[in-house]
Amino acid sequence: MTQRDNQSHEKRFRTLAVGSTKDTSSSEKSEPSDVVAPLHLSSTFEWASENDANKHDYSRESNPTRAALEEQLARLEGGEHGLAFASGMAAISTTMLSLVPPGGHLVSSDSLYSGTEKLLTEFVAGHLGVDVEFVDAREPENVATAVDSNTDLIWAETPTNPLMRLCDVRSIADITHDYGVPVGVDSTFASPYFQSPLELGADIAVHSTTKYLNGHSDSIGGAVVTDDDEIFENLAFAQRIGLGNMLSPFDCYLVARGIKTLPARMEHHQENAMAIAHLLEAHDRVASVYYPGLESHPQHNLAAEQMSGYSGMLSFEFDGTLVELEAFIDGLELFTPGASLGGVESLVEVPSLMIPDEVSHGSATAEIPETLVRISVGIEDVDDLCEDLRTALP
Ligand code: PLP
Repeated sequence: MTQRDNQSHEKRFRTLAVGSTKDTSSSEKSEPSDVVAPLHLSSTFEWASENDANKHDYSRESNPTRAALEEQLARLEGGEHGLAFASGMAAISTTMLSLVPPGGHLVSSDSLYSGTEKLLTEFVAGHLGVDVEFVDAREPENVATAVDSNTDLIWAETPTNPLMRLCDVRSIADITHDYGVPVGVDSTFASPYFQSPLELGADIAVHSTTKYLNGHSDSIGGAVVTDDDEIFENLAFAQRIGLGNMLSPFDCYLVARGIKTLPARMEHHQENAMAIAHLLEAHDRVASVYYPGLESHPQHNLAAEQMSGYSGMLSFEFDGTLVELEAFIDGLELFTPGASLGGVESLVEVPSLMIPDEVSHGSATAEIPETLVRISVGIEDVDDLCEDLRTALP
């Protein structure tokens, strides 16, 4: 497996993660030079004219704490421009609203976080009249068939929530760039540590920073990174002026703080997830395990190629009734039932029991099996996690 340390960025990933939020807001040598970018809560700054030496005038438009995080996010993704949004959904919706006009054409992977699916079906298609075409993006040819020169955006998520499907970002970008169509990739499940959509050819990398980037389940946020100046200008206008959709300084501070330990956490998440995936694969009450790190995952080779690790998310199909499944969840001590993912603590979710309204039954998008269990594997002691699962499984 290739490690992120082999990448060609100027500094290696772990160094960037730790050291990239020094205070850049003051050029005065007499002022303290904080090792940690300080928290600027001020909504406004002294500002006399456009020629003012201050870089920041009003915090909706720009704020030093947010600027430090946005630079940090761009560096981690190996991109030019970073933007920090009020949530992952804010990052995704702002990207779509900025790039796809009413009545436009958007091609999306059919396996997606349920919130993105709802945004696409009910708002982008339902409200804006965009022609949204869902395709099984595991096969790049399906994207090739759907895209044409009138397409405004390709949307992909990889690995997907909760089915852990992948799409080949490089092949999709090669196909769609022939038509000049931008590709946006929601890379939340991998985090910037294990996957670099821009290096693979995508135009836009998106994250819910709520998950691995913050990593401590105490902030909701989203990020977009792009190398494309025009896309950045459009998104920055929508974020700062059109929609006012930016991350608060305090949340920026929390995410920047979380990022410093992202590499260490991701290695640990992955190590624990691999052990749990093997345990589940061998268990007779588990019908199938979906973890890209397992050789049995149908897209394991693609995962090994386009990711530098397999992250800490997995799902499996429980072999039993819903009543038995509920008893299994009740019996768990260390896996808290709940939504969200990517924090240091282990969480478990059964979409059909916990979010039944949001579970896709497969009309336009990929079907979620009734007994599917999704686990966000935390960084607790792996032996304790395995023991807990063994004890609770019937
Ligand atoms: N993208 C993925 C893959 C997600 O799993 C989620 C939330 O679970 C989001 C986006 C939305 O992020 P947020 O809850 O921060 O709006």
